[in-house]
Amino acid sequence: MYFSTKDILQPFHTTWLPGNVQAAMLRLDTIHPLVQGNKWFKLKYNLEAAGNTRILTFGGAYSNHIVATAAACKLYGLSSIGVIRGEKPTIPGHTLQKAAELGMELHYVSRELYAQLKSGGEMTRLMQHLLHDAYVVPEGGHNAQGARGCEDILALADTSSFTHILCAAGTGTTLAGLVNAGTGQHIIGISALKGAFSLEGEVESLLKAPSSRWQILHDHHEGGYAKHTPALIGMMNDFFRETGIPTDWVYTGKMVLAFRRLAEQNFFPPGSRVLLIHTGGLQGNESFAPGVLCF
Ligand SMILES: *Cc1c(COP(=O)(O)O)cnc(C)c1O
Repeated sequence: MYFSTKDILQPFHTTWLPGNVQAAMLRLDTIHPLVQGNKWFKLKYNLEAAGNTRILTFGGAYSNHIVATAAACKLYGLSSIGVIRGEKPTIPGHTLQKAAELGMELHYVSRELYAQLKSGGEMTRLMQHLLHDAYVVPEGGHNAQGARGCEDILALADTSSFTHILCAAGTGTTLAGLVNAGTGQHIIGISALKGAFSLEGEVESLLKAPSSRWQILHDHHEGGYAKHTPALIGMMNDFFRETGIPTDWVYTGKMVLAFRRLAEQNFFPPGSRVLLIHTGGLQGNESFAPGVLCF
């Protein structure tokens, strides 16, 4: 897939950012309307490894990974199957509708069966049939190929002069890739989930070498995965008005909220240069009623 990386690094300033701290956003959200953000990076080496085999992957009803996989497979002429956690909704949400439109075959499985499948447990005949001859990309692209793809993110622009890097974390695959590729920056993952304390171990499992240059903050989930608060929505609108940068409510909005709180607590020493990774996910905002967001 070809995309332009011109202007991908966008410096910004806001009223709440101390004058002695600089910030810039690496706009992975601009690379493609659907295969955007970190999802493309997590998929690229997986698709390469798949060859012509059809792709099977897993996700929930709000999964950006599901839409990105559907779109990338369409671009590559591969067929794709999405195993979706939970019973089929009467009216599928925007994310699943989009995936179906892009040609992904969707199969809904109960939460129990979904958990079993992910752990390689007992399978139904249907699942055996689906998995047959398919290249399996784990939920959220959490595997070594996924992390390897995320190493390429820091090479999109000259990122070596930054002192800190912030990114949203779901499975921690992106964070692991950034740590593997980092050149001395302190790397901070903002968990989008409540109490996901296994995340540190998930990241460690994908690191090429042990590192102490990273940490995960667990206090900025705003109620939990795919939950939001008025503070989050207000901040997303304010941030857009000040910088022109749109964020999503599941991941990148929480990262910017955390950045603001850290900046206000003087977490960053004077002279810090902070790079925020915009991991995309903007399609998820379409689930909001018009007018909630100003962009
Ligand atoms: C999936 C997703 C993430 C989480 O990435 P991980 O590699 O699973 O930690 C972060 N931001 C956005 C916008 C995403 O869609």
